[in-house]
This record gives sequence, structure tokens and C-alpha cells, in this order.
Amino acid sequence: MSLAGKTAVITGSNSGIGLGMARRLAKEGANVVLNSYTDTDDDHALAKEISKETGTEARYIKADLSKADESRALIEQAGQVDILINNAGIQHVAPIDEFPTEKWNAIIAIMLNSAFHTTAAALPLMRKAGWGRVINVSSAHGLTASPYKSAYVAAKHGVVGMTKVVALETAEEPITANAICPGYVMTPLVESQIPDTMKKYDMDRETVIREVMLQRQPSKEFATTEQLGGVAAFLCSDDAKQITGTTISVDGGWTAL
Ligand code: NAD
Repeated sequence: MSLAGKTAVITGSNSGIGLGMARRLAKEGANVVLNSYTDTDDDHALAKEISKETGTEARYIKADLSKADESRALIEQAGQVDILINNAGIQHVAPIDEFPTEKWNAIIAIMLNSAFHTTAAALPLMRKAGWGRVINVSSAHGLTASPYKSAYVAAKHGVVGMTKVVALETAEEPITANAICPGYVMTPLVESQIPDTMKKYDMDRETVIREVMLQRQPSKEFATTEQLGGVAAFLCSDDAKQITGTTISVDGGWTAL
């Protein structure tokens, strides 16, 4: 597969899953647009590093995706968008009767509203180019629920619903829309939580991973950002042309329970 000549915009891609997907798509030949709400030297250095490693064009565009106008401006600034990956996300955990309204609004804005705005802005560009892939990073929490994660679960279920609608609206065009639903993925953020959790429960690293972090993941293994990058690349391949409007779980069996 070669994605040469294609441009992929990956939201929330200066770390974790988004960065893994950007690296993989660049390896497959795509030009990539990295994004987050910050604008640091490190952000731009990441893009330079990917360009150097892959010989493709990698750019960093700052956009705060909690805002409708910045979500749309990201697509406008990218110019060409053949692959859109809506990945940016945040989390807040609290019982629903104590859930701060501003946290609810931020989670829905960044994970659901922004995907609406970027998709609405990118579809005309895909139609003009005659090819497109919309990939929404949902979650096992887009298919199941956990207590205390009302906004996250609502946003991730919403993303799955919107993915199906986009797929139906583009069904007769060379465009697909799908959602990837990861279980627990090893990212720098997850890694950084291990030492504190070890202290909190007085457990060794392996026990914390098996008994606390991966309690709901039957494989007892984290997915990796590289694997998620591979799934995104597959969805961009010709083999995946007839895969649209569906979810792909990468959750070690979580949603089979
Ligand atoms: P992460 O914190 O490494 O990545 C989140 C990205 O979103 C970062 O680049 C961050 O800067 C960006 N972001 C946050 N707020 C933003 C804003 N206002 N505007 C623009 N960008 C913003 O976490 P991750 O684990 O890589 O998460 C990526 C996606 O995968 C999220 O949607 C998350 O819900 C989903 N997910 C993660 C896991 C997991 O176990 N790590 C599991 C299932 C789903």
C-alpha cells in the first residue's frame, strides 16, 4: 500500500495514539498534519522528525478543538485532507451528580463537537479529490459504559453514531467512515500513572497492570500505539474499501465479555 500524495490530518497527535497513527501513515507515504492546542518548539520538532524519518511532508498546526471555529480552521489551513482522523480527547472522572458542567462541556466539545466540525469541513475536500477516509478514534467506552465517566461515554457513543451517519451519507462515494474502539492502550500518560498506582495499592508493576489497570481487558495486555497506527493504515488501504459505518475494537476481548 502506498499513501503517497495523500494528506492525513490527525487531531490530538503530539502524543499517544494520534502520534502513533501519524508516524505510521507517514511511513506509508502520506503527508501528515499534526495537531494539538499547544504551539511549542517540541510540537514543531515532532513534525520535523517525522519528515526526516519518512521523507514525507509533516506539518504541525495548532488548533484548540474545544472551539468550533478553530476546528474548522484546522481543516482550512491543512488545505488538502484525504484522511481525517478525529483522535483528540480528554477525560474526567466523577459521579454524574457531582460532574462539573465545564468538564462535561469540554469533553463533549473536544471529542464530539470537534469531530462534527472537522468532518463537515473535510468532506467537500475529499469529494473534490475523489477519495477519502474518515477515522474516528472512539473507545471501548463507545460501546460499553463504566461508572463515573458520563461525559466520556456519552461523547464516545456519540462519535460511533455520527460515524454511521457519515458512512451512509457517503456510501455511494469513494469515501469511508469508521470508528476504532480501543480498550486500554499503553501511552506515555498511562505509563506515568503506574508508579503512583503501585504506591497506592502497595503492588508491584505487573500486579498493578494485571489486577488494576487491565482488570477489564481479558488479554491482560495493553494495545500499543503502533498497533493502532496499523489499524488506521489498514482502513486507508484498498482492502478496506467496503468497510464503512462500523467499529473496529482493539480491546483484547473487553467488549466480548
Ligand atoms: P493523549 O493524552 O496522549 O492524547 C490526547 C491528544 O489530544 C493530545 O495530543 C492532546 O494534546 C490532544 N488534545 C487534548 N485537548 C485538546 C484540544 N482542546 N484541542 C486539540 N487537541 C487536544 O491520550 P491518548 O490515550 O493517545 O488518547 C487519544 C484518543 O484515544 C482519545 O480520544 C482517547 O479518548 C482515545 N482512547 C485512548 C485509550 C487509552 O487507553 N489510551 C483508550 C481508548 C480510547
